[in-house]
Amino acid sequence: MYDPKSMKAEEFICHDEILETLAYAEANKNNEELIDRILDKARLRKGLTHREALVLLDCEIEEKNQEIYALAEQIKKDFYGNRIVMFAPLYLSNYCINGCLYCPYHLKNKHIARKKLTQEEVRKEVIALQDMGHKRLAIETGEDPEMCPIEYVLECIDTIYSIKHKNGAIRRVNVNIAATTVENYRKLKEAGIGTYILFQETYHKKSYETLHPTGPKHNYDYHTEAMDRAMEGGIDDVGLGVLFGLELYRYELAGLLMHAEHLEAVHGVGPHTISVPRIKPADDIDPDNFDNGISDDIFAKLTACIRVAVPYTGMIISTRENKECRERLLHLGVSQVSGASRTSVGGYAEAEEENSAQFDVSDNRTLDEVVRWLMDQGYIPSFCTACYREGRTGDRFMSLCKSGQIQNCCDPNALMTLKEYLEDYASPETKRIGEELIRRQAEKIPNEKVRGIVYKNLEAIEQGRRDFRF
Ligand code: SF4
Ligand code: SF4
Repeated sequence: MYDPKSMKAEEFICHDEILETLAYAEANKNNEELIDRILDKARLRKGLTHREALVLLDCEIEEKNQEIYALAEQIKKDFYGNRIVMFAPLYLSNYCINGCLYCPYHLKNKHIARKKLTQEEVRKEVIALQDMGHKRLAIETGEDPEMCPIEYVLECIDTIYSIKHKNGAIRRVNVNIAATTVENYRKLKEAGIGTYILFQETYHKKSYETLHPTGPKHNYDYHTEAMDRAMEGGIDDVGLGVLFGLELYRYELAGLLMHAEHLEAVHGVGPHTISVPRIKPADDIDPDNFDNGISDDIFAKLTACIRVAVPYTGMIISTRENKECRERLLHLGVSQVSGASRTSVGGYAEAEEENSAQFDVSDNRTLDEVVRWLMDQGYIPSFCTACYREGRTGDRFMSLCKSGQIQNCCDPNALMTLKEYLEDYASPETKRIGEELIRRQAEKIPNEKVRGIVYKNLEAIEQGRRDFRF
């Protein structure tokens, strides 16, 4: 029944295979010999199967767990160096016809303010985001074909890309909207989006149907097969994610990795990113009503296991998590973080009068503070958006990523985009720390020719030129 190449959700996310995987992991959680073999395979940096990853997740041998964490950290360094890519969410509309039990935008919530940005309001939001220094956005909407049709989303994308305020520009728009048709995915591709992101929420079909009692999202198969339609529509960078806390985390990790295996088997390219949100308090939502919440320790283990299982996939953590948690996960595999996020519609340009937020933010620092904090931890905050603009997407991107060659672009791009940020937006102290970091890191660029170009471009940025990239 389990078939990663099948196009049917119930065959590539096969419930029986997940149950067998969980039983196998449980039976082998103290099998040192097997765990050593899996760790040896993981050290090859070619990834693990869902079964192997689940054995590591369940592993109860403390010494081996420390090896898993150390390996996750090493793989993170090998594939991502010390760069962390920055982004911000932009909520366009919170009208929604679905009944998701864990989200305040659900149709029956009558005490949340409903809003949809006009193009003028989109403009204001984008200028506010540009004035912070953001270059990469993830746009978010609820599902409502009347209030928020695909044409509206496309118009917003056009508006976002068209705004050039001072030295600001949004150079990559990722899109997180409801599962849709091949035709609509094709339109999004033509609009020049980066990654299409759709969280599965839960891979457990029965729970999924209970958690989504009404609305089009109730259809598990349509939702689960969305990435295949997106790929058919020409979008070759897709982002997966589950909302941890809805179902048993072990089940979710198996489902998530099976989904990645399916994309690889059918399309020859795995997920571009994996997000790891946990359920959080919000209007009308109490996380205590969901009894599968996970502790910080389990969350760290999950992150480490994803990192070793899919080494080439970017991992994203949002401001749902607080500073301490984000700090811990950065070591274990996270490669992208949001900064200074507002999770309400119109929240960047204007102070909120009425609550329209999707969830409470746990990390309320400014982008300048987040950038400085990352640098204090030894990371290089990167505002790079080069790949899709250079046509490095899908399997082309993945092969560069898997061979490690992408690093030759990422490192110089991180330094040049950080330099832009420092010139245009940073506070004096952040600028001082950043200049010093760039000086130290630029010296380390191994290729002499590339190093020379970077020095030249850094100077040009000081003189007011922008948007250099490899
Ligand atoms: S999770 Fe998405 S689809 Fe569900 S209620 Fe919230 S906005 Fe609507
Ligand atoms: S070069 Fe490509 S992979 Fe590297 S940080 Fe930039 S966009 Fe990401």
